[in-house]
Amino acid sequence: MNEERKPTEADCAEVLADIYVYLDHECDGQRKEVVQRHLDDCGSCLERYGIERQLKELLHRKCGGDHAPSELRDRLKASIREYTSFTSIEIEREG
Ligand SMILES: [Zn+2]
Repeated sequence: MNEERKPTEADCAEVLADIYVYLDHECDGQRKEVVQRHLDDCGSCLERYGIERQLKELLHRKCGGDHAPSELRDRLKASIREYTSFTSIEIEREG
């Protein structure tokens, strides 16, 4: 898997979906690594959807042992759900 390729919209959606699951679970190092790697490659993925700050704050709290505010989590989930469903539609249209 040394294939060099640019992250696509689908990759972003996949990662966002991953984060979505991740939010409901404990701080999972492996999943976090996958997300982190994508963000390193993709750069502005979360920033583009305006959830980068929210996510970082939430992950920081979660991994720091605090309880993430449910309000923040719910808002983040809503943003991700909105984006992932939007992306699915886009992919279908193009394919
Ligand atoms: Zn991305």
